[in-house]
Amino acid sequence: MKVLVPVKRVVDYNVKIRVKADGSGADLANVKMSMNPFDEIAVEEAVRLKENGQADEVVAVSIGPVQAQETLRTALAMGADRAILITVDGPVEPLSVAKILAGVVKDEQPELVILGKQAIDDDANQTGQMLSALLDWSQATFASKLELGSDSAKVTREVDGGLQAINISLPAIVTADLRLNEPRYASLPNIMKAKKKPLETKTPDDFGVTVASRLRVIRVEEPAVRQAGVKVANVAELTEKLKNEAGVI
Ligand code: AMP
Repeated sequence: MKVLVPVKRVVDYNVKIRVKADGSGADLANVKMSMNPFDEIAVEEAVRLKENGQADEVVAVSIGPVQAQETLRTALAMGADRAILITVDGPVEPLSVAKILAGVVKDEQPELVILGKQAIDDDANQTGQMLSALLDWSQATFASKLELGSDSAKVTREVDGGLQAINISLPAIVTADLRLNEPRYASLPNIMKAKKKPLETKTPDDFGVTVASRLRVIRVEEPAVRQAGVKVANVAELTEKLKNEAGVI
C-alpha cells in the first residue's frame, strides 16, 4: 500500500506572531518556519505503517515556496521514501491545495492519504475534507487511532465529549489529531540519508489548477491584551468582588 502525506511549511509553533503595521497579515520576515505539527504526526503514522509492514511506500507532498523543500527533507529524514514539491509563491487556499492534491492522488494512486487535522497558520481545518469530497473517498477526521485492514480501516476520532470509532472503506482520507502518536525526531544519520532521497518538483499548471484567491483578508489584528489577575484571600472576598466589581453575581 502506498501512503501519501501532505505536509505544510508554517510559522514554527514557538514563534510569537507579530501583526504587520498595516494590519494586512502576519509579519513573516525572518521568522522561523517548520513543518505543521499535525503533519509531523501524519508522517509519523505513515512511517509506522511502513515499519509494521502495512505500507510499502510513503510519499510526502508539499505545496509552497522553494523553501518547502526543507519541510519535505524533514519528512524524508523521519522515514518518508520520496517527496514531491509543487512550487507556488504566496498563500494558497485550502480549495486550491485540495485540487492540487487530488491531481497528485490521480498520478500516484495511493490507497491512503494522511493529512494533519489543520494547519496552525490559518487554522482552516478544511483541506482533508475538501480532498475527500473531490475524490469521493471515505474520510475520517481528527484521528487518535488508526487500525488498518486489507480493504478498510477502523479509526478512532476525537469528537466533542469523547471518542467515536468508525469503519471506513479504502481508499480513504484520514486527518491526524494530537493524540494519534508522538512524532520522532530525525536522527543525524537519517537527516544525511534524506539528502539523497528523490524530491521531484512540479507546478500547479501540471495539474491544471489555478491558485487565485477566493478570499479577501479585510484586517488582521492582535488579540486584546488580557488584564492581569488578582489573588483573593478567601471565598468571602471572591464573592464580594464578583458581586461588586465584576457585577456577575
Ligand atoms: P488546513 O485545511 O489548511 O487547516 O490544513 C489541513 C492539512 O492539509 C494540513 O495539516 C496539511 O496536511 C494539508 N495541507 C494544507 N495546506 C498544505 C500545503 N500548502 N501543502 C501541503 N499540505 C497542505
